[in-house]
Amino acid sequence: MADFLLSFFTPILFFVSYNLIMIPIYIGQYSFFEQYKIQRHRVWPWFDERQNSRDEFWKLTIRSIKITSFNLLVLLPALTCLKIVLQKTLLPPNEFLFSTDDEHWPTPYENGRDIMKLSLIHEFGFYVTHKMSHTYPALYKYHKVHHEYKCNWTMASQHNHPIDYILSIGGPAVLALGLVSQAHSMSQFQWILWTMYANLDDHVGYSFPWSPVRWFPFSAGTSEHEFHHSINVGCFGSKLSIYNSLFGGYERYNKSIINNQQDQNKKKTLT
Ligand SMILES: [Zn+2]
Ligand SMILES: [Zn+2]
Repeated sequence: MADFLLSFFTPILFFVSYNLIMIPIYIGQYSFFEQYKIQRHRVWPWFDERQNSRDEFWKLTIRSIKITSFNLLVLLPALTCLKIVLQKTLLPPNEFLFSTDDEHWPTPYENGRDIMKLSLIHEFGFYVTHKMSHTYPALYKYHKVHHEYKCNWTMASQHNHPIDYILSIGGPAVLALGLVSQAHSMSQFQWILWTMYANLDDHVGYSFPWSPVRWFPFSAGTSEHEFHHSINVGCFGSKLSIYNSLFGGYERYNKSIINNQQDQNKKKTLT
């Protein structure tokens, strides 16, 4: 029960809190935060001068509230139950990963090792399923719901068709937690928090330099997923850069960075 509550309520609490923190920032348009906005050439859709664009945005937001509620309140508990049953099946009998005694509590090494394993497996699963969703029309018809957002804000983070949610969000997470089933619940909890933070950070629309999910080696930048939403090509990863670098995904993104730099240099020489 404790494992279920921790795995189920934490993402919901995190999602609600993150949105509550971000909404005043989005509305306030403070220059301190706006300097980190990724798509600076685009106005935030709720401030768009065109009435029809604002109407479309609010329609999409209402759809997001419905889709997100279903994903977090129906699919997430179902996937959490699946995770618990899977881990119970895979672990030796009487192995109880919620014990806080010295024998079960993970050492800093075990904790770091298991979080790293979970991240590598999850990211691989996400990269593969996400790339497949853009390759095969039979899958893209579900994934295109997530791509209704061309300019992200935090409500885009869980805006996935239920089939897309099971395939690319829940599937890789259950796979990672199944393969690293010996990870202590506290390690799993830290990893779920980190994954949820990265998911929200991917869709926040700002590239905050202080973001705790972007500072370590091989981490992917927030601008990569924003680029993916803006043109629907490449950057198939989420938190890590390794699989895009190894198996492809950065071609168009790198070109766009070079083009932007050339444009900026041209502007500088003209002024
Ligand atoms: Zn996509
Ligand atoms: Zn996205």
